[in-house]
Amino acid sequence: MIRPVDARFVTTAVAPEGYPPGGQPEIAFVGRSNVGKSSMINVLSGRKKLVRVSNTPGRTRTLNFFDVDLMRGDERRTVRFADLPGYGFAKVAKTERATWEKMITTYLEQRAELRGVVSILDAEVGPTPDDVRTLGYLQKAERPTLVVATKLDRLAKARRKPKLRSMAEVLGVDPAWVVGFSATEKLGLSEVLDAVWELTGMGDTSVDPT
Ligand code: GDP
Repeated sequence: MIRPVDARFVTTAVAPEGYPPGGQPEIAFVGRSNVGKSSMINVLSGRKKLVRVSNTPGRTRTLNFFDVDLMRGDERRTVRFADLPGYGFAKVAKTERATWEKMITTYLEQRAELRGVVSILDAEVGPTPDDVRTLGYLQKAERPTLVVATKLDRLAKARRKPKLRSMAEVLGVDPAWVVGFSATEKLGLSEVLDAVWELTGMGDTSVDPT
């Protein structure tokens, strides 16, 4: 079992000049605005208020970096979490949307430390066109991706497994890489932490940005 033992905020950035110097293996979290990304990072890091949970969608307009110390048995590992700005918030101007998109794609293309991406969907809503587009992008960029369907608590228990299976099918991803999660009921926590551990234990999987 993997457990978080400590976590801290590192820095905020909008462009590569501002990314923190490397060293730690990094996992990025992407998702639609208001999908439950902040709540998920808080639960995974074992800290209730590491990331501010906001009821105002579209507010996080920077990349935020956190270091999370994980332990498996006696083995300790620091993983850097990159919280990417939420996409797909309907009420923003086109230019602002383009700025976000650039921020996210630049990071995903250039960040050498990046070992994997957690792509967050709403289990009840299912994949939105923006989610499908993001996943397609991640596949093209050859970034190992774990799909995490959050707010699973909102689905009746009997609907959960079939919904996750159909999501994997619709998205064209291996069902083993689609995990259900709930921040409120702490569901799927060990599956996501296992995947984070697995991804960050691999060798350098960075892609050549050229
Ligand atoms: P973010 O914008 O993606 O960072 O989303 P937040 O973590 O701020 O959450 C957005 C809203 O969804 C808040 O009102 C949360 O309380 C709620 N929320 C987040 N995770 C869950 C969950 O697992 N289950 C339920 N039922 N609500 C959640």
